[in-house]
Amino acid sequence: MRGTPGSADDPRGITRVVIVGAGFAGVACAKRLAGEPRARVTLFDSRGYHQFQPLLYQVATAELAPADIRFDLSGMFARHPNVEARTAEVVSLDPATPSVTLADAGTVEADILVLGVGAQPNFFHTPGAEEFALPLYSLDDAERVRARLLGLFRDAAAGPGPAGEDALTVVVVGAGPTGVETAGAVAELARDVMPHRYPDLPAAAARVVLVDLEHTVLPPFSDRAHAYAAEQLRRRGVELRLGVPVKEVTGERVVLGDGTVIRTRLVIWGGGEMAAPLAFRSGLPQGRGGRIDVRPDLTVPGYPAVYALGDTANVPDTDGSPLPQLGSVAQQTGEWAARNIIAGIEGDDRQPFRYKDKGIMAMIGRKAAVAEIGPHRHELDGRFAFAAWLGVHAHLLADAGAEMKAFLAWAEDFYLRPGHRSAALLDPSTIDTPRIDWSGG
Ligand SMILES: Cc1cc2nc3c(=O)[nH]c(=O)nc-3n(C[C@H](O)[C@H](O)[C@H](O)COP(=O)(O)OP(=O)(O)OC[C@H]3O[C@@H](n4cnc5c(N)ncnc54)[C@H](O)[C@@H]3O)c2cc1C
Repeated sequence: MRGTPGSADDPRGITRVVIVGAGFAGVACAKRLAGEPRARVTLFDSRGYHQFQPLLYQVATAELAPADIRFDLSGMFARHPNVEARTAEVVSLDPATPSVTLADAGTVEADILVLGVGAQPNFFHTPGAEEFALPLYSLDDAERVRARLLGLFRDAAAGPGPAGEDALTVVVVGAGPTGVETAGAVAELARDVMPHRYPDLPAAAARVVLVDLEHTVLPPFSDRAHAYAAEQLRRRGVELRLGVPVKEVTGERVVLGDGTVIRTRLVIWGGGEMAAPLAFRSGLPQGRGGRIDVRPDLTVPGYPAVYALGDTANVPDTDGSPLPQLGSVAQQTGEWAARNIIAGIEGDDRQPFRYKDKGIMAMIGRKAAVAEIGPHRHELDGRFAFAAWLGVHAHLLADAGAEMKAFLAWAEDFYLRPGHRSAALLDPSTIDTPRIDWSGG
């Protein structure tokens, strides 16, 4: 594991690190290398910004504006001349050289290549799902869901349309954290917010249905959390359709495996994910979910100068089992890869990745969350779980440049003022309304 190209024995003395993807993993890696005089980092991202995925459903349900969770990359690295952030899509790579090819032509060579390209929705070949269901994986996805959701309320308030009493039926597919958080937030929007905006709409006009093939919500959590989350969702009026697959999605309905037909104009897909397209085009060894298999030191077998991180990789825990696709896993792999890159520059051994497990958590709604803290999974729910969620997400947000003070101000607003939303946030035609000054100023 010793001696990487561009390391101390390299006559150029500077290691060229190319990072593809500015998610939690890529940004953490670039930040750790920023200011390192022996490394020159080029960070490519097709979007040109870092999106804070854990708060995507808040954008989709008009709790936050898109700009609130979009962090500009050039600003993030403005004080670090050895890091260049570039907006460009990488369309292919050669792990042997290593090098990447950009969509607008041109090949960029590296001494070290770091892949942090994340994931994409997995529709599991469900007929019509890719065409008609809206996934929730990117900021663009969240904006599409928000526009459709708010448009449904606006149209329903304007008078009975062709969809009739099903005009406000929303189906959420997938009862993992994304689906549960989204279903809870849509139900709270319908119950606590929309009656103020559209007083003539009957309070019970909206219907939220959460569907999953599994028999429980939040499968990775404990039985106690399953029961708590299901109860909290039901209290918010969410209908649970568990243990049944989605057989087909069309523009007007969802058909379930047991023959049930649900008429709906909005299907939100939180049904699973797989590695990003570049992983499939990389020619690198792929395992579960199309993710790239990596060695304990996070490099790809046979390619010691290529790292794969975060959601792009099957990252092994110390016992060899794969770690989950979480922001904290991605962020820690990014930092660890940077440490190993520096070790390589210094001619030292690279170290096997050790994950500091903070646990798992999900928000079901205001004042309702579940958390299983640390490697021993200490179980919390309600306000304590919400506090734990805040702590972990404040840490992740701080990495993107947000100040704790601003994050807490937002959290207080969310916690204490349930029906409170600005008119701009609730207007389906408004594209962007920056609200939060994450600098805390
Ligand atoms: C809705 C949702 C909610 C979530 N909530 C939580 C949560 O509460 N807590 C938690 O810990 N985790 C949560 N996660 C998981 C967490 O967000 C991911 O595990 C994490 O974002 C993975 O980070 P990453 O750096 O591997 O990839 P990503 O964050 O997906 O970043 C990948 C980046 O690569 C770029 N990219 C992709 N392909 C290319 C290309 N070919 N060329 C150039 N750039 C490219 C993309 O533009 C993107 O910026 C959530 C995920 C989702 C979808």
